[in-house]
Amino acid sequence: MSRFDGRVAIVTGAAQGIGAATARLLAAQGATVVVGDLTADRAHGTVEAITAAGGTGLAVGCDVTDGESVNAMVTTALERFGSVDILVNNAGITRDDLLYKMGRADWDAVISTNLTSIFLVCQAAAVPMVKAKYGKIVSLSSQSARGNRGQVNYAAAKAGVQGITATLCQELGRYNINVNAVAPGYIATAMTDATAERVGFRPEEYQKMASEQTPIGRVGKPEDVANAIAFLASEEASYITGQTLYINGGVR
Ligand code: NDP
Repeated sequence: MSRFDGRVAIVTGAAQGIGAATARLLAAQGATVVVGDLTADRAHGTVEAITAAGGTGLAVGCDVTDGESVNAMVTTALERFGSVDILVNNAGITRDDLLYKMGRADWDAVISTNLTSIFLVCQAAAVPMVKAKYGKIVSLSSQSARGNRGQVNYAAAKAGVQGITATLCQELGRYNINVNAVAPGYIATAMTDATAERVGFRPEEYQKMASEQTPIGRVGKPEDVANAIAFLASEEASYITGQTLYINGGVR
């Protein structure tokens, strides 16, 4: 018997990075995983990896900023697999700039993709979870919620994720739904590689600099975050709700 046998999970933004690692891990531990990303084509690679490892996954195109697209993904999960037991709100983007240079479009895009999306996906997925009196929701916040130069949009969105988490814990607890967040520090993915290049470094150089400022002496891997998400989605964490777990190698 595996940890998530019989459970159905949705992971958004799961074509690559932390989302892909989480989808693969949940599937390896028995969950049937709906692998969401902007297009089903983008999500296929993760499903192929899941299938090759003996698991079950379905690629679904879902833009998390679009309520209709979100509702369609949840409906697909229900029609194909009968329930939505685990939701991982992972899709996210950065559009960094200092306050005086940041355009309204970059503010709106980041708030919409990293914060409004979580409201939309939780609202849709909570319906079957409440009916089933079972659910595990884990959302991606960030170390940047504590403030990060050049990320006023992203920091606001990721702090907002913690507020949504603390609130939904109170609203949904009575339905046996746990709602938590993880707040990663520097994790080596396409997102942080792009940040490195934008500020004029090669990703390896930027990772080395980040490692030197991290008590544990290295940057994170997507699997470091996936492991914590899987724990929070499991029965072992059934008395943990409303929390944000920092996964940052000890950075303050
Ligand atoms: P990546 O950029 O590697 O992956 C994010 C995925 O989300 C991509 O596949 C992207 O698709 C997808 N995506 C973007 N917009 C949407 C949308 N509107 N609807 C659906 N999918 C979308 O990021 P990471 O793996 O690094 O990050 C995953 C999450 O973790 C994000 O929420 C991020 O903010 C958070 N995080 C990451 C940290 C890090 O150091 N990497 C640190 C702290 C938090 P596409 O590529 O096509 O745009």
